[in-house]
Amino acid sequence: MHPTRRSFIRSAALVGLAAGGLTRSRAAAPDPRVTKAELDRILGQPVLRTDFLNSPVRVESVDLLRNGKHYLLRTRSADGLEVITVPNPSRMAESFPVFLKNIRPVFLRQDARRLEDLLWDAYRHGSNYKLQGIALWSGVAAIEMALLELLARTARRPVADLFGGAIRRDIPVYYASSNRGNRPEEEIEHLRKLVAGSGVKALKFRVGGRMSRNADSLPGRTEALIPLVRKSFGDGFTLYADSNSSYDVPEAIRIGRLMEAHGYAFYEEPCPFDWHWETKEVADALNLPVAGGEQEFSLRNWQWMIEHRGVDIVQPDLHYGGGYVRATQVARMAAAAGMTVVPHMSGGGLGYLDVVHFASFTPNIGPFMEFKGNAELPVACETSSLRCEEGRVRCPNGPGFGVEIEPAFVKAARVVTLA
Ligand SMILES: [Mg+2]
Repeated sequence: MHPTRRSFIRSAALVGLAAGGLTRSRAAAPDPRVTKAELDRILGQPVLRTDFLNSPVRVESVDLLRNGKHYLLRTRSADGLEVITVPNPSRMAESFPVFLKNIRPVFLRQDARRLEDLLWDAYRHGSNYKLQGIALWSGVAAIEMALLELLARTARRPVADLFGGAIRRDIPVYYASSNRGNRPEEEIEHLRKLVAGSGVKALKFRVGGRMSRNADSLPGRTEALIPLVRKSFGDGFTLYADSNSSYDVPEAIRIGRLMEAHGYAFYEEPCPFDWHWETKEVADALNLPVAGGEQEFSLRNWQWMIEHRGVDIVQPDLHYGGGYVRATQVARMAAAAGMTVVPHMSGGGLGYLDVVHFASFTPNIGPFMEFKGNAELPVACETSSLRCEEGRVRCPNGPGFGVEIEPAFVKAARVVTLA
């Protein structure tokens, strides 16, 4: 949060209140700390460093495999290297025909060092841009991660080196509850169990009813829970709450004020996720930082949100938004506006690990990353326990993403085809 902006907003709010409006005066001008021209300049800059790869890394084949509800990508280079990576499982289950028909052909027989150009080609190929959204970008993210792994393993370097190198390895995390509809005392019990023994000092829980037009999941639950979580965990805890698009502007502000009164550190997705203007109204009205963007896939929309300070903390999802390169572009634009990035963590697969890798090389990362360990996918790692220890997760630093999917699990997977 920026004091200059907030003091401006406070005076704007007073004007709004004096005029008798609950919806206060909005900051009409874009945030003066960054211009559209500067954001365009950032988007025009290359993200990946591949200068340590002297010869082409040609993509020979990409196979989509399935084992139960898990999906894997098996990617081979013309040099004979084979890598296994993990797409977002539920999104791949929904959209694999788009992946196989519309996305994969763009990357076959290409030099993986051209990955950034290929992302644009994938968007333009056929009429792929008409499919823009999770259906397109989660599939692009899947193949992007496969090519990142291929590049990094070819160079025998950690994937962070493609992004300029790791700047931290131990990543502080927060735990998030996915409950709604339970009684406040039950949720406190759940949160206590969640953090027990982890050393975690930051928590997120859900408020409102999820895309519910102001209705709570249980009458009065939100108003009771906000003070109760603070009281139960004390001032030493960093607390976040996520409304998952529950509120219109007046209700979002009312709930946000309650969070402010209890020292919360951010307020996620207060309004429906594509109500950018309304979310900005809420962010302008509150002193509490507003976070958002987990569903956002348009870099142009990101520019608007950053230029106009539509949110205070940006939350690109590494899968839904098209992968590490595009999330890095969002982070770099946010950095130019003095904003931090706390990526959204889509569950399943190795989503928890993707966030840890991203945090390892992103300078303007927030203080805690969301962490949901995944015990279901059999994965081994020599350089990290992949667990939360004393509130932190150690980022693997072996070649590529630094993990190996159990060979027997890969062997038992079947190739997914369109037929
Ligand atoms: Mg959320």
